[in-house]
Amino acid sequence: MEIKEDKDLTQYNTFGVGATARFFSEINSLDTLKEIIKKNQVDGNEFLTLGGGSNVLFTKNTDAWVLKNELKGVRKIKEDSENVWIEAFGGEDWHSFVLYTLENGYYGLENLSLIPGSVGACPIQNIGAYGVEVKDFISDVYTIDLSNSEEEVFTNSQCDFGYRNSIFKNELKGRVFIYKVVFKLNKSPNLNVAYRALNEELEKQGINNPEPIDISKAVIAVRSSKLPDPKEIGNSGSFFKNPEITKEIFEKLKLNFPDIPNYPGANGLIKLAAGWLIDRAGWKGYRDGDVGVHKKQALVLVNYGKGSGKEVYDLSERIILDIKNKFGITLAREVNVI
Ligand SMILES: Cc1cc2nc3c(=O)[nH]c(=O)nc-3n(C[C@H](O)[C@H](O)[C@H](O)COP(=O)(O)OP(=O)(O)OC[C@H]3O[C@@H](n4cnc5c(N)ncnc54)[C@H](O)[C@@H]3O)c2cc1C
Repeated sequence: MEIKEDKDLTQYNTFGVGATARFFSEINSLDTLKEIIKKNQVDGNEFLTLGGGSNVLFTKNTDAWVLKNELKGVRKIKEDSENVWIEAFGGEDWHSFVLYTLENGYYGLENLSLIPGSVGACPIQNIGAYGVEVKDFISDVYTIDLSNSEEEVFTNSQCDFGYRNSIFKNELKGRVFIYKVVFKLNKSPNLNVAYRALNEELEKQGINNPEPIDISKAVIAVRSSKLPDPKEIGNSGSFFKNPEITKEIFEKLKLNFPDIPNYPGANGLIKLAAGWLIDRAGWKGYRDGDVGVHKKQALVLVNYGKGSGKEVYDLSERIILDIKNKFGITLAREVNVI
C-alpha cells in the first residue's frame, strides 16, 4: 500500500483546478483497498473515491484520503439467446468500455459514447445522454463498505436510479467504493435515434440504416462539436441539472416565456433545459478572469487555465441567484462539490 501525502490533484480533475489531498492512494487491487480500510479504522480519515475526476469541483484542499480507482478488467460472465452480461471493474475508462462492447457485438451503450470518466462512477449519477440512461443496462453494482470492507451487491432495483441520481449519490455517498459493475446488454441492436441532433448528424453523413457503431460515431461527432474538450478547457460537462417543475408552475412560467423548451419529466413533472434558462438570462459566453460560461454551451462552466474551484463555485452561486430572480427556479448542481 502506497500512501502519498499532500498530493496535488490538478491532474486528477477535468476542471484542472488546484487542490491537494491530505492522503492519496491508487487502488490497484481489492486487497490494497481492504488494507487501507483496515488501517483507517484506527486513523479515522474521511475517504474520497476518485475515478476520472470529471464530475467533481475541488473548492479547497481536502483532508480526505483520496482513493484513485485503478481496478481493471472486463469479461463476459453469462449469456442467453438475447442478452449478454459483462462485468467491468470500476477503474476502466468508460468510453473505452463502450467501444469494447460495440466491437464485440454487445449493444445498448452506443448513445453513451464519449462520456468522460470511469465505469465505477457510471451508476452514481446514472449517466445519460441522447435519450439513454445507463440504468437501463446495469444489472448489478458491487460495492465495498469503506468503514468495514464488507462487500454488498446492489441489484438494479436496489440502486434507486433516477434522473442523474441513485442511492450512491444519496444515502451511500462517500460510504461505499464501487469496485465492479455488471451490465446486461443486447445481442441485437435496439437503436435509439429519437434525439434530433443525432438524427441530423446521421442524415449529414448520409446514413439511412444505422448500425450501433454509426450511432456511436454520430454521438462522438455531435459531442465533439458541442462540448469543450477538458484537455483544452477545464470543465465537468453539464454543471447544473435540468430542473423538473410541476405543471402549475410551468403554466405560469409559460405566460412570460412562451418559447420555453420543455420535456416530460419523472412522475408527471415537466423538465426544463437549464442551459436555455442560463442562456436566456444572458450568461452564455460570460467570462470573469479565468472562469466563465462556455461560449457554445451555457450549461457548461469552464476554467480557462488559472481559475480556482472557489471562483467556479462563486460563479455558479451568482448564476443560481440570477435564475431564481428571473424565473423563480432554483438550479441544482450536477457536479459534486468538494
Ligand atoms: C466534457 C464532459 C461531458 C460530460 N457529459 C456527460 C453526459 O453527457 N452525461 C452524464 O451523465 N455525465 C456527463 N459528464 C459528467 C461525468 O463524465 C460523469 O458523471 C462520469 O460518470 C464521472 O465519472 P468519473 O470517473 O470522472 O467520476 P469522478 O468525477 O471521479 O467522481 C464523481 C463522483 O463519484 C464518486 N465516485 C467516483 N468513482 C466512485 C466509485 N468507484 N465508488 C464510489 N464513488 C465514486 C466521487 O467521489 C464523486 O463524488 C461529463 C463530463 C465532462 C467533463
